[in-house]
Amino acid sequence: MPGVRVPDRLYGAYVFDLDGTIYLGEELLPGAKRLVEGLRGLDVAVRFLSNNPTKDPEQYAAKLRRLGLPTPIKEIVNTVVTMTRWLQDNAPDAVVYPISEPPLVRALEAAGIRMSSNPAAIDIVIASYDRSFTYEKLQTAFDALWFHKRARLVATNPDRFCPFPGGRGEPDCAAVIAAIEACTGVRCEVNTGKPNPVMLEASLAGTGVEPRDCLMVGDRLGTDIQMAQVTGAASALVLTGEATADDVAAMAEPDRPDFVLDRVDRLLPPMYWKEFGWEEGSP
Ligand SMILES: [Mg+2]
Repeated sequence: MPGVRVPDRLYGAYVFDLDGTIYLGEELLPGAKRLVEGLRGLDVAVRFLSNNPTKDPEQYAAKLRRLGLPTPIKEIVNTVVTMTRWLQDNAPDAVVYPISEPPLVRALEAAGIRMSSNPAAIDIVIASYDRSFTYEKLQTAFDALWFHKRARLVATNPDRFCPFPGGRGEPDCAAVIAAIEACTGVRCEVNTGKPNPVMLEASLAGTGVEPRDCLMVGDRLGTDIQMAQVTGAASALVLTGEATADDVAAMAEPDRPDFVLDRVDRLLPPMYWKEFGWEEGSP
C-alpha cells in the first residue's frame, strides 16, 4: 500500500487510542488482538487512551473484555482520569461545577474534590461531553463566570463531535465550551484531553518509560499525532479511523506522523511477524 511506513524496532511503551485504532463501534479492528497480545508477551507496556469522559475506565475495561481483549483498569486513561488528576495537581481546594455525566462526578467525589451548583460558591466550571446539558446548567455557568466574575472555565476535551459507525456522530465537549464562551465572553483556559501532553504523561505513570521511548498510536492527526509530537513521543497513524492517506500526503513533511499503517499490527517489525508466524491479512 503506498505511503505506508512501519517501525523497525520495539519501543518501551505503546499507547493506543481506542476508537478507530483498536476497535470501531463493537468490533476489534484487524490485527488489534494479536498485536496487543504479542506486545504483552514481549513484556513492553501497553496503555489505552480516550478523550471521552462519558465512561469510567471500568466501562472501557468491560468493553475490551467483551471484545476479547481483557485489560486491567490501570492501563486505561480517559479524561475522567486526567481532569481529576489536573484538579488535584492544580486546584485541590477549588469548588467545582461539573457540567458532565455521572462518571466524572463519581471520580471527583472519590477524589474528595468539592462540588457545588451555587454560582456564588463555584471556583471552576468544568465543561464536558454531557448529553444531559440543559439551559439550567448553562445559566449556572453564566452566573458563576459572568455575574459573580469569580470562576474559571476548564474542559475535559476539545473534540467537536464523537464519531459513530456509518459516518454519524454526536455533539461533543466543544459544543458545550462554545455555548459557555459565547454568552460569558470567558475563554476556556485548559482542556485535559488529547492533544494536551497531560494525557500521555498520565498514561505512562508507573511504567518507568520516558515519552521519547514511547510510541503513540491513533487515527486522528489533530489529537493523537499532535500530542505525540508535542510530548516528544514517536507517532504512528493508523488509517482505520478518521485520517486518510490523502490527509497525510497533504501535510508538510515535518508535521507528518513517523509511521503510517494500513493495519495496526504492522507496529511489530517484520522479524517479529516471522517469530510469531503471522500471516498477511489474518484478523
Ligand atoms: Mg480515535
